[in-house]
Amino acid sequence: MYTSLLGKGYNISFCWIPGHIGIIGNEKADIAAKEARRITWPYVPLPDIDCILRSKVSRSWQEIWNTQTNNTLHFIQSLVGGFKPCNFNRYISVKLVRLRIGHTYFTHRYLLHSEPAPICQTCNTNFTVRHILSECEVSNNCRIRWFGKAHPQLHELLGDPPHFNLFSFVVEIGFMKVI
Ligand SMILES: [Zn+2]
Repeated sequence: MYTSLLGKGYNISFCWIPGHIGIIGNEKADIAAKEARRITWPYVPLPDIDCILRSKVSRSWQEIWNTQTNNTLHFIQSLVGGFKPCNFNRYISVKLVRLRIGHTYFTHRYLLHSEPAPICQTCNTNFTVRHILSECEVSNNCRIRWFGKAHPQLHELLGDPPHFNLFSFVVEIGFMKVI
């Protein structure tokens, strides 16, 4: 009923009340709770159930994520298990996350200031993290120096682990302080 009401747009709050008497829904819930107490379930240790549930949820989540091929995050992170921790300090870690999700101060500050989206005048296209890191013609030589190619794929730069020279490149093109 809760799910069905949520689906109809109701906003539901739960609150404790001191008695059930006279409130139909509560009396039904009380009867159901007493019924449930009579059922004797075989004992299963919590860690066993926990392990099975986690694995099942993770599998279902992965199946859903596998279909999200148009999601830009899918290109960088194909497994739902998450990224392995890096040995970066917090300053760098925060910047890495921003690059991975494609939201940086430079590319998105226009939303805060009600301005038009920033355009790369050289390539005549929107400045996105993808454009800056792997596409913009202005940084081709710099990319060749740090990554060995002019247009590396985003997952090569931001995947798990991120490219060893990622932040050297980012500093050289002047992007570091505005991520
Ligand atoms: Zn460009």
